[in-house]
Amino acid sequence: MDGPLDRSATWPYEDGVPGRFSYARADHPTGVACEDALGALDGGQALLFPSGMAAVTVVVLTMLRPGGTVALAQGAYYGHRMLLDHLAPWGVNVVEFDQTGPPPRGADLILVEAPANPLLTMPDADAAVAHPAPVVCDATVASPLRFRPLDRGCDVALHSATKVLAGHDDSLAGVTVARDADLRDRLHLMRRLSGIVASADTAWLVLRGLETLEVRLARQEASARVLVERLSAHPSVETVRYPGLSFLVSFDVADGEAAGRVERAVRVIENATSLGGIRSKLEARHRWEGDRIPAGLLRFSVGLENPDALWADLERALAQA
Ligand code: PLP
Repeated sequence: MDGPLDRSATWPYEDGVPGRFSYARADHPTGVACEDALGALDGGQALLFPSGMAAVTVVVLTMLRPGGTVALAQGAYYGHRMLLDHLAPWGVNVVEFDQTGPPPRGADLILVEAPANPLLTMPDADAAVAHPAPVVCDATVASPLRFRPLDRGCDVALHSATKVLAGHDDSLAGVTVARDADLRDRLHLMRRLSGIVASADTAWLVLRGLETLEVRLARQEASARVLVERLSAHPSVETVRYPGLSFLVSFDVADGEAAGRVERAVRVIENATSLGGIRSKLEARHRWEGDRIPAGLLRFSVGLENPDALWADLERALAQA
């Protein structure tokens, strides 16, 4: 890849004056190169974080005050709910709402997800931005190539760059993108003071991933469409959830036991957590999320493998359902 990987933590002053880069907790050149690329994709100013959860943490610390309430999309990434519950001693309240309609009155911060992982509903962005509270949209699954939250009036686009942006399951990273310069500066200040900063290596790996994002996503999405059709016609599959874009599919088999048999039977597809990477992954989400989601729900992240090979693997595994 073009562009240097600069692992410095500190840079010499110029004639006694700190230059653009002086200490890496504020900014570093590899990180800024990555942020320029990510900002261009989402149409705003990006900040890189060491994980998606780090990005959400900085958003909450910056955009909410003690006693405030976050309206969180139902069926959104479970980690968000766990984090917000964990922050209850700091005065963080959370209410879940159906993101296909308007957020509840009285919310101080709205967190929607495009699409929600793993139930794969899309948010009603118009209803969300009509609410007086600021709106943060986690578009990890859609990626900025399929849904740009800032274009829809949201205040912050958020991504776990661990997923399709980096794309290779070899780095954890997160991103916020804002158009409002003051909001971007407040997020940056919280990042600098808290030290929740991504390394240069992380930035370099995300930049490498971005070089192939378009072709990876196109291939993964085309395969997902083919597999959605075949899954929908399979007698052991009761429900298929797919929002019509990107690489993530959730499908339900009869119950938790059947889901367990299917996930243990796949061989080409990895039985592992996470999503968006080049290798397909499938897991029963009930083990993490409990009764928040159907026991028979399998989350399937479609990778770059041959779609016929993926289908042969799924068919073989579904015979155990
Ligand atoms: N947002 C979504 C939609 C996710 O799926 C995840 C992780 O699975 C996260 C955020 C958290 O990202 P990370 O694991 O990089 O902290």
